[in-house]
Amino acid sequence: MLDRSTIWPYDERGEPGQFYYSRYDSPTVASAETELGKLEGGDALLFPSGAGATSALVLSLLQPGDTIALAAGAYYGTGVTFSAFAKWGLKHVEFDQTGPPPDDVQLIWLEAPSNPYLTMPNLDAAVAHPAPVVVDSTVATPVFLKPLEHGADYALHSATKYLAGHDDALLGAVAGRDLAELKTFRTRSGISPAPDTAWLLSRGLKTLELRVRRQTESATLIAERLRGQPAVQTVRYPGLSGLLSFDVADAETARRVETSTRLIVNATSLGGVTSVMESRARWEGDRVPPGLLRLSVGLEDPEALWADLIQALQ
Ligand code: PLP
Repeated sequence: MLDRSTIWPYDERGEPGQFYYSRYDSPTVASAETELGKLEGGDALLFPSGAGATSALVLSLLQPGDTIALAAGAYYGTGVTFSAFAKWGLKHVEFDQTGPPPDDVQLIWLEAPSNPYLTMPNLDAAVAHPAPVVVDSTVATPVFLKPLEHGADYALHSATKYLAGHDDALLGAVAGRDLAELKTFRTRSGISPAPDTAWLLSRGLKTLELRVRRQTESATLIAERLRGQPAVQTVRYPGLSGLLSFDVADAETARRVETSTRLIVNATSLGGVTSVMESRARWEGDRVPPGLLRLSVGLEDPEALWADLIQALQ
């Protein structure tokens, strides 16, 4: 049930119950957190966006002078968020997440799989390191990976993507075994989620597995066929979830392809029921090849998606 209240009455003795002011806790948010926690094998907390979850987690765990080891090629916005905290003394270094993290860091930040390079992290190497390990598993979703079961300390999501799944809710989440301190930080910093988006998350979770399995089937087919196309140079697809990336000759070709699709929408983001594709160099500059296109496969008929893609490539 969607409860938009910000306040709830104290009990008959005049004492606050579980819910009294929504910045602390609220029933719709709490129930979505319980559902997500079950999927991840731990507890879960929601935040107003994935970036909000990232900010809250690093600010509650770290102090000035600390360094984060960030997976190279991970969502570029995560590095941008960390850079915003540089003036408060937080540092970050990038490393190849397919190998061990560097020594002398206080937090390890992996991404499964990385967006848009689609590499999978070496979780065993990361959990052998003394620093706590965060896995941004936005793209894998708990359907394919439950980081806590592999010894990670936290799983993080842009729930805006697959978890909510319909491109109509901006939301973030952290799952872990003991989130009491993070919850206190959330209340104190005010990085608290809204009930409407939490309700949309609950609705999305009901179809998560169905959606992600079908998106995986369609993406597998499309990745295979793209590999046979002469106009396509590199196809990156780890075989799970609906996200893939591929390279065409140059920026101009990429722009032509992304603006020539009819069914696939030329837009950012990923993980929704609608397929979207964009050239990533527009956001990431020379961090990615100029002809890199990122495609998030939705729930449309895969043959119709392929027909759309092939006419755009031609
Ligand atoms: N993590 C990953 C892997 C993402 O792709 C994104 C957004 O694109 C985020 C985090 C940030 O999430 P949000 O846009 O919900 O703040």
